[in-house]
Amino acid sequence: MNKAVFGKPFTQQEPIPEAAIERAVEVLRSGRLHRYNLLQGEIGEAAQLEQDYAAYMGQRYCLACSSGGYALHIALRAAGLKPGEPVLSNAFTLAPVPGAIDNAGGRPVLVEIGPDYCVDLAHLEQMMQRSKARFFMLSHMRGHIADMDAITALCQKYSVTLIEDCAHTMGASWSGRKSGTFGKVGCFSTQTYKHLNSGEGGLLTTDDDEVIARAIIYSGSYMLYQRHGTLPDARVFDEIKLDTPNYSGRMDNLRAAILRAQLPGLDRNCARWNERYRALEARLRDNPHIQLPLRPDRESYVGSSLQFRVEQLDQGQVAAFIAACAARGVELKWFGGAEPQGFTSRYDSWRYIEKTQHLPQTLEILATTFDLRIPLTFSVEDMALIGAIIDEEVETRLG
Ligand SMILES: *Cc1c(COP(=O)(O)O)cnc(C)c1O
Repeated sequence: MNKAVFGKPFTQQEPIPEAAIERAVEVLRSGRLHRYNLLQGEIGEAAQLEQDYAAYMGQRYCLACSSGGYALHIALRAAGLKPGEPVLSNAFTLAPVPGAIDNAGGRPVLVEIGPDYCVDLAHLEQMMQRSKARFFMLSHMRGHIADMDAITALCQKYSVTLIEDCAHTMGASWSGRKSGTFGKVGCFSTQTYKHLNSGEGGLLTTDDDEVIARAIIYSGSYMLYQRHGTLPDARVFDEIKLDTPNYSGRMDNLRAAILRAQLPGLDRNCARWNERYRALEARLRDNPHIQLPLRPDRESYVGSSLQFRVEQLDQGQVAAFIAACAARGVELKWFGGAEPQGFTSRYDSWRYIEKTQHLPQTLEILATTFDLRIPLTFSVEDMALIGAIIDEEVETRLG
């Protein structure tokens, strides 16, 4: 039997749009790549990006900085985290999230996820009571948005400050409100594998005067903070500037130029991701051995990746299934492995965290969860072929 094979790489992005390339070349020709190197009266690309992204989010302030993880780190500090304080976070996330908590001097306290890959609300409430944490860093991991009405109510009830990791929800919303606007701070990544691509980069958004002033100074503004794109009153800086350290992590004009030119196409690209996501979902839905997450009506997600479970596979079958799909060109990632691999790691491999935490529900869900990137270089027809291969390989084992 001749089995169909898929031939495109799962890590190939679309090219940077021509408009962005042209703008980047202009910045290179100017020689003024540093964000504070401006001509008289000039508003640099980094400052303009801050204005554009704040407007896109419908928020007052945006800070462009060096990475998503960096934005998470200074968000916690700007929101007032004290050394050694506990910070809640969902256990299914990527390593930069506990890393940012640690970097900010906090102590990660992990919370279980449920079968929808979102934080488990009952466990979250328990952990809010037990840990007395004043901060919750909610990672919208793989674009799954938890019930934000319930989350904001819990945060209010326990006086917890919410910080959102929107690395996978840029362009997404909940009940018509953009992901990243529910908490005190929203943090975004513009690293190559996310929804805007500048190689590396981060964006932080907030409506809070003091948070943005502190974040700007932390990011390495020196006393040039007035050159930022979205600013609170100068008096806010006067109050905090001398007791806020410089943690050098700026965005430069070259990357900002590339991002600014991509921003007008973001919503269109989100729709293209969803077309592909839905095509794959439709192909997998008919297989009774495959469990797909339910996506509530209130969630407007961006389907830049898809997760599914095959609960009936045992440990040995998991590895064989991944290998069989890989042999047919379909690259699946597995978050259940005891050893971290590539970008993927399970929470218990972050050994700098207190080892007393055991999260059996999260481990059980991840043990049979598979994860697949959806680059925009794949066509909608490609998704049907990928779906057919997964479907066949599941049936070979369980059919
Ligand atoms: C990529 C990512 C980050 C960090 O972004 P960087 O820009 O790579 O630092 C944080 N959280 C999640 C869930 C991510 O995928």
